[in-house]
Amino acid sequence: MFGYQGKILRVNLTTGKISEEKIDEKFAKKWLGTRGFGIYYILKEMDPKVDPFSPDNKLIFATGPLTGTTAPTGGRYMVITKSPLTGYIAMANSGGFFGAELKFAGWDAIIFEGKADHPVYLYINDDQVELRDASHVWGKVVSETEKILTEEVGDKKVQIASIGPAGENLVRFAAVMNNGHRAAGRGGVGAVMGSKNLKAVVVRGHKRVEIADRQKFTSVVKEKIEKLKKDPVAGGGLPTYGTAVLVNIINSNGLYPTRNFQDSQFEYAEEQSGEAMRAKYLVRNKPCFACPIGCGRVNVLPTLGETEGPEYESIWALGANLGINDLASIIEANHLCDEYGLDTISTGGTLATAMELYERGLIKPEDIGDAPPLRFGNTEVLHYYIEKLTFRKGFGDILAEGGYRVAEKFNGVEYFMGVKKQELPAYDPRGAEGHGLGYATNNRGGGHIKQYMISPEILGYPYKMDPHDISDEKVKMVILFQDLTALIDAAGLCVFTTFGLGADDYRDLLNAALGWDFTTEEYLKIGERIWNAERLFNLKAGLDPLKEDTLPKRLLEEPVKQGPNKGHVVRLKEMLPRYYALRGWTEDGKIPEEKIKELGLEEFA
Ligand code: SF4
Repeated sequence: MFGYQGKILRVNLTTGKISEEKIDEKFAKKWLGTRGFGIYYILKEMDPKVDPFSPDNKLIFATGPLTGTTAPTGGRYMVITKSPLTGYIAMANSGGFFGAELKFAGWDAIIFEGKADHPVYLYINDDQVELRDASHVWGKVVSETEKILTEEVGDKKVQIASIGPAGENLVRFAAVMNNGHRAAGRGGVGAVMGSKNLKAVVVRGHKRVEIADRQKFTSVVKEKIEKLKKDPVAGGGLPTYGTAVLVNIINSNGLYPTRNFQDSQFEYAEEQSGEAMRAKYLVRNKPCFACPIGCGRVNVLPTLGETEGPEYESIWALGANLGINDLASIIEANHLCDEYGLDTISTGGTLATAMELYERGLIKPEDIGDAPPLRFGNTEVLHYYIEKLTFRKGFGDILAEGGYRVAEKFNGVEYFMGVKKQELPAYDPRGAEGHGLGYATNNRGGGHIKQYMISPEILGYPYKMDPHDISDEKVKMVILFQDLTALIDAAGLCVFTTFGLGADDYRDLLNAALGWDFTTEEYLKIGERIWNAERLFNLKAGLDPLKEDTLPKRLLEEPVKQGPNKGHVVRLKEMLPRYYALRGWTEDGKIPEEKIKELGLEEFA
C-alpha cells in the first residue's frame, strides 16, 4: 500500500492499553486520510451527543497519504474531535514538521480514548510506543515543554505536539501546538487534549513513505513546484510578505473587519501589513516540511528576541478587530497566545465581543473589577486578558468560555460575531457574499479555510467572480471549494497550494504517489463524502440547520457603512435554499437517504 504506513495506533488513556490496527487500501480509497480517517472513526465509535470534555470523546491525530512525501507542502496532520466550543465536529490542521515525523515513525493516525488519571505524554520511537509521566511539564508553556521533553528523550530530532496552560485549563478555544508556533488552532482541540490529561505527543521516526512510481512522482512534484513558483501569490506575495500580504489587499477591498465588524476598513491597516512587518521586524522566512512557498515569518523584537508569526488572521484578530494599532504589541500578543496554546482568532474574537458588550454597557465596570477597561483600541487589554483567560483568573474565567458564552451571559448574543458558537475570521462577508455562505454552512462553525471564497471573489482564483453575485454559479463554487478543501486536507497538503494548483494537479500528485488511476471527479467525491459525513455527525449531535446555518444579525441586516461595499449585507436567505438543493440535501438542510447511499454512508445513517 503506497503512500500509507497501513497502521493506526490506538491509545486508551484510562487503562494505559496501547494497540495497533491495520488499515487497507479499500478503506484508504474511501476516506483518503486526515479528516476522512478522523470522521470515519468518530462516526463509527462515538455517541455524537457525548460531552466534549468527557473521557468518551475521542481525539484523533491523523496524517494524509502525501504527508511525509516531497509533494509540495506535504507535511500536514490534523486533529479531529468533538469541539467544546461548538459542540460539533472540530478538525484543525497544522504544518511544521510533526505530521511528517509521525508518518516516518510508521503511523497513519493515533486514536486517543479515555482519560489518564495524571498528566502523561505519549512517546513514539518507530514501533516503541509508551505513555510517560508528564507531571513535571504540566503547567509549562509550549516552548519550555518542547525543550524539556526533547532533552528528556535525548534526541534533538524528535517532533512534539503539545498543549500549553490554556489546554490544561480547558479554555474552550485552546490549540494543539507544534514547532513552537504552528497551531492546530480552531475548535478547542487543545482543550480536549487537556481534558484527557494528555500534555504532549513526542515522535521520532526512521522509516520512509513508499511511493508507487518514484520517478514519475518526482517529475510530477517538480512540475507542480514550478507552477507554484510561477504563481503571483504562492511564488510572490506569500514568500515575500507572508500571509500578512492580505492586510492591505483585504482592507482596500473593504472587507477588513474592524472593532468587532462594526466597520469594514481599519484606518491603521497599512501600519500592520505584511509590508510594514517585513520592513520593521522580519528576520527570515520559515517554511513547513517540504514547502516551496514558505509563508512562515521569523520576526525579531527587542522585548522578545526572535519569535514566529503573526499570520494575517492573528494580526487582524489581535489588531484591527480590537481597534489596536501597535504592531509590536500584536506580535507580542501572538507570541503569548502561542506559548499558552491559544487559537488567536477565537482569542481576538472573544475579546472583541467583550469590548462591544462593555462599550454598550452590557458588561459593567463592576463586572471586571480593577482590570483594564474593555475598550476598543486599549492595547493594555491584550496581554492582561490573554493571561487572565488562560489561567481562568477573575473575568478571564468568563472569557475562557469563548465569545458566544460571554455574549449569552451578558444578554448580548447579537453582538457575538460567529457561527455555531465559533468566532469568525478576518473577512467581512458583506464584501464577499459567497464567503458568507461558506461561513454559514461550515461544518466547524465560523471559519474561512474550509471554503476560501476570498480566492474567486477577491483574488481571482481560479477566476474572478463578482463578490456580490449570488447566482447558482456562485453557490456551486462554494460547494466545490468545500469539497476540494476536504480533499486537499485529507491528502495532507496545505490549502495555500490552491494559489497555483487546481483539482487536476492534486489528482496527478495522488495518483503518482499511490499508484491509483482515479479521475478528478472520483477524488472530489471523496471530498464530498467527508463533507457530508461531518455534516451527518453535526446533525446527530443536535444541529438545527435552519437556525444554525446562519450569520450574525449584523451581517444580514446592517449594511456596511463605508468603503467599496457600502450599503451591502449578505443575502444568505436567497443563497441557502439553493445551497441545500445543489448539495442534494432536503429543504431543511438534512441529508436524504439517496445522498447517504450515493456516498456510501449507510452504516452511519
Ligand atoms: S504555505 Fe505556509 S503554512 Fe502552508 S505549508 Fe508552506 S509555510 Fe506552511
